[in-house]
Amino acid sequence: MKKMLIGDQWVGASDGRSLNVVSPSDGQAFDEIPRGTAHDVDRAVQAARTSLTGAWGQLNAMERGRIMMRIAQKVLDHEEELAQIEAKDTGKPMTTARNDIKVLARYFEFYAGGADKLHGETIPFLNGHQVSLLREPLGVTAHIIPWNYPAQMLGRTLAPALAMGNGTVLKPAEDTSLSAIRFAELALEAGLPAGALNIVTGLGEEVGAALSGHPGIDFISFTGSNEVGTLVQQAAARNAVKCVLELGGKSPQIVFEDADIERAVPTIVRAIVQNAGQTCTAGSRLLVQKSIYNKFVQRVAEEFSKVRAGTPEMDLDCGPLMNRAQLKRVQAYIDQANAQGIAVIAHGQIAQDAPRTGYFVQPVFFGPVPRDAALAKEEVFGPVLAAMPFEDESDAIALANGTDYGLLAAVWTENAGRLQRVAKAVKAGQVFMNCYGAGGGVELPFGGTKRSGHGREKGFLALEEVSTTKTLVHYHG
Ligand code: NAD
Repeated sequence: MKKMLIGDQWVGASDGRSLNVVSPSDGQAFDEIPRGTAHDVDRAVQAARTSLTGAWGQLNAMERGRIMMRIAQKVLDHEEELAQIEAKDTGKPMTTARNDIKVLARYFEFYAGGADKLHGETIPFLNGHQVSLLREPLGVTAHIIPWNYPAQMLGRTLAPALAMGNGTVLKPAEDTSLSAIRFAELALEAGLPAGALNIVTGLGEEVGAALSGHPGIDFISFTGSNEVGTLVQQAAARNAVKCVLELGGKSPQIVFEDADIERAVPTIVRAIVQNAGQTCTAGSRLLVQKSIYNKFVQRVAEEFSKVRAGTPEMDLDCGPLMNRAQLKRVQAYIDQANAQGIAVIAHGQIAQDAPRTGYFVQPVFFGPVPRDAALAKEEVFGPVLAAMPFEDESDAIALANGTDYGLLAAVWTENAGRLQRVAKAVKAGQVFMNCYGAGGGVELPFGGTKRSGHGREKGFLALEEVSTTKTLVHYHG
């Protein structure tokens, strides 16, 4: 039975209840985490508040950066252990889990360097006045993250908040809290003062709702579904608290007839199969110019049919889905597409010796998908790729922008002018040109437009999101 971190105490839930931790690879429970309560959230928020006037609040920016660098080193020293924990908890292949832990360390390295580099300003004003703009932490920041990349997500959301000197409370997803718990132990060993980081595990509707509605927080960062994002934003509004929302996506890969096909194909397959499609930035729509549609989708089909899903130890292209509900959801999209008569272009395979009790789904490539089908517009969050033909540049842009989402996009063409025009016209927080990068890239500001959310994480912009300014006006005569 794991414990959660409140201040400097490792504790169970205040009412002693717990939740099973289930392995997606075989559906078996193998550990337990505390099922935190509103009372636990209250104590965590208080501990974070207290840290702001305690040892944590008294550190200068350079000292905060040094501690964060030591945390990054601890993570790297424990890379294999953390990767094993992450792989068991999520079912993802070992290679992917190891990469996720490297990215977690990278977040702490990057923002360790950023801790003392976001400066204030002086502002010319009336004669006899001196105006300075101070950069300050927001106070207590709340962080609610999903299950798809637990270690990366905690790095992405916590590292900038700690770099700016906030006291933080993290609520990991109920399915995947183990890497966060081990990470917190390592962070304390690295010298992070008590209360700077608090972790409350448990259910979304209990811990998540209590945290996002808590009057003692100053900011919320939420990554997850649109439905819950709306609830979090409503809670933030009631307390007049700022929130950053990182929600879903239906990101297009736009392939023109002059694209470098051999470069594009493996990237496109990886962008949907990575993490079994459970990536908010998955390239789930393949938009191909009509003149090369048949030839191109056949090349993608060849690659796609080589994709194999298995357990972490098998270390194949992807693992199972996260839980039974996710499996049901993805299967329902596949069944609906089949019932609508949408053609299957290719299937990936589930490894023969993968446990039957695991939450595996066979990767599938559909096309041509009608533009009004659910598969063309809704986020499936599974290894399901939807191909659609387009006529020309303007049709490609209209199709790319034809969903409620706007997270990522990729444009594939050897025509430099078209590359720029389309990249500028597509509504998305990041556009990749002749390449694609779902996840990673801690230096690159990231976030949504439209229903994919608002606010920015990653890069230096994240430091601005988790800090505020104070304008000092001094009359000196
Ligand atoms: P989810 O919204 O169900 O859960 C996300 C987190 O919110 C979890 O920690 C959960 O416990 C918590 N939560 C649930 N109910 C809550 C409530 N009432 N109040 C407060 N918190 C609550 O999402 P999920 O199923 O875990 O993740 C899948 C979704 O996340 C997908 O839609 C995906 O696109 C999105 N996602 C987005 C990004 C991004 O960066 N844009 C990254 C990863 C996942």
